[in-house]
Amino acid sequence: MMRYRLYIDGAWQEASTGTYFDVTNPADGLVVGQAADGGKEDVTKAVDAASKAFPGWSRKTARERGELLARVYDGMMNRKEEMARLMTLEQGKPLAEARGEVQYAADFFQWYAEEAKRIYGETIPANSPDKRIWVQHQPVGVAAAITPWNFPAAMITRKAAPALAAGCTMVAKPAEQTPLTAALLAEIMEEAGIPAGVFNLVTGTRAAEIGDALLEDERVRKLTFTGSTEVGKTLMKKAADTVKRISLELGGHAPYLVFEDADLEKAAKEVLASKFRNAGQTCVCTNRVYVHRSIKEEFADLLARYTGEMKVGPGLEEGVQIGPLIDQAALEKVERHVRDAEAKGARVMVGGRAVPAEGSGCFFEPTVLLDTTEEMLVEQEETFGPVLPVHVFDTEEEALTLANNTRFGLAAYLYTRDLSRAVRISESLEYGIVGVNDGMPSTVQTPFGGVKESGLGREGGRYGIEEYLETKYISIGLK
Ligand code: ADP
Repeated sequence: MMRYRLYIDGAWQEASTGTYFDVTNPADGLVVGQAADGGKEDVTKAVDAASKAFPGWSRKTARERGELLARVYDGMMNRKEEMARLMTLEQGKPLAEARGEVQYAADFFQWYAEEAKRIYGETIPANSPDKRIWVQHQPVGVAAAITPWNFPAAMITRKAAPALAAGCTMVAKPAEQTPLTAALLAEIMEEAGIPAGVFNLVTGTRAAEIGDALLEDERVRKLTFTGSTEVGKTLMKKAADTVKRISLELGGHAPYLVFEDADLEKAAKEVLASKFRNAGQTCVCTNRVYVHRSIKEEFADLLARYTGEMKVGPGLEEGVQIGPLIDQAALEKVERHVRDAEAKGARVMVGGRAVPAEGSGCFFEPTVLLDTTEEMLVEQEETFGPVLPVHVFDTEEEALTLANNTRFGLAAYLYTRDLSRAVRISESLEYGIVGVNDGMPSTVQTPFGGVKESGLGREGGRYGIEEYLETKYISIGLK
C-alpha cells in the first residue's frame, strides 16, 4: 500500500509521532494509502529547513529559479496520469476532471517560471539633485500554505509556484483528506531538483496544532490559506500576533443571472458546467441561478433535461460526470439543503436524493430545484454539492440586489447578449470574479480571489506573485 512520509529539508522523514493515518476513497470508503501524521515538532523542523534554505534560494537569479520551476512543470506532465488517478482515488472527482486539474496545477509552474524574470522595480524622481530613489521588490521570506481537499494539486501549486518564483521558501500543509496527491507533488519537486528546504510538506490530522505552530513561529512571514470562511477568520486572528502577511481564499456563494435575451441552450450548458464540476464542490461553482420570469419554464426544463442525463458514479468509471461527495458530512449537508427547500415550497425538477452505493460511498443525484426563495438554506449558504436552486426575478435591479445580498463575494456569472447590460451588471456585482457568458473563468494568468468574507488577496497572474513580495524603498544620497 502507498505510504508517504513527511518531506522536510529535502528528505522523507517519519513524523515525530511515529504514526500514519489512513486516506480513504470517498466512492467506497476503502483505504487508498497512508500519510505520516505530523505535528508541532515537525512544523518546527520544516520551518528550520525553510529558513535555512531561504538565503540561498532568494539569492539565485530569477532565471535560475525559473528553470527549476519549468522542470517541475515537465515532471508533472510526465506523471500526469499517475497523479490524476491518485487524485480521483483520494478525492473522488471524475478522472477527466482530475486530468484537467493536473494540467491546470502544472500550468502555474510554467507560468511563474516565466514571471519570475519580470519582478520589476522602479526609480522615482527625487526632490533633490543629490538623491536617487529606488523601489525594489524582495521575497517576503518563509511562507506557510494551508490547503483544502477540493483541488488537491492546484491549490498547492497556485501558492507554491508564485512563492518559489518570488524567492520565498514554503512549508505546506495539505488537507487531511488528500495528502497523497500533495506528497506526489513534493516527490516531483524533489526529482526536478528544487533544493532541500525550499518546499516542505507536513501532512497530518491535527490541523489546529499544525496551523498554530505555523502561525506562532515568527520566522514564518506569510500565510496563504484556501478553505472555509470560518477557519480563515480564525487564522487571520492568529496571524495578527506576529503580523504576518496573509492571503485568504474562502467560501463563495456564486449567483448566475440569466436574462431573457440569453441563448438558452448555451446558457444552460454554461450554468451546468459551472454548477456540477467536482460534484459542486468548488468555491466558484454556481450556487444559485436567477432567471427572468419570461423564460423560467423553458430554461428550467432545459436544465432538468441535461441534468437528468448526467452519469453519477466512481470517478474512475468511464463516462462518469458526477463523482462522490468528499464525506458523509458533506452528503448530509446537501440532503438538509434539499429537504429544507422542498419543505419551503421549491419544486424538485430532477434528482433530490442520495444514491445508494456500495460500502460507504457518498453519492447524491444532481438536482435542480425550481422556485427557490431567499428563506431557503440553499440561497443562504454554500451548499458545496450537486444542487442547483433556480429563483425567478422580474427586473434587472431585483436580480442584482438578490445576487449581492450575501456576505460572500468570490465569483458571479451572468448570461445576456445585451452588451450594455453585461457591462452595467458586471460593474455592479460585488464579486472578485465575474463571468459574462462564461461559467468557467479560472486560468493561471488571471487574478483569482474574492471580496467581502470570501477573502483577501489574489492568486494567479502577475497579481499572484505580489502576495509573496515586499516593497523596499531605497533612498540614496549622492553628496
Ligand atoms: P473544508 O470545509 O473545505 O474542509 P477547512 O477550512 O476546514 O475547509 O479546511 C481547509 C484546510 O484548513 C485544511 O487543510 C484543514 O486541515 C485546515 N484547517 C482546518 N482547521 C484548521 C485550524 N484550526 N487551523 C489550521 N488549519 C486548519
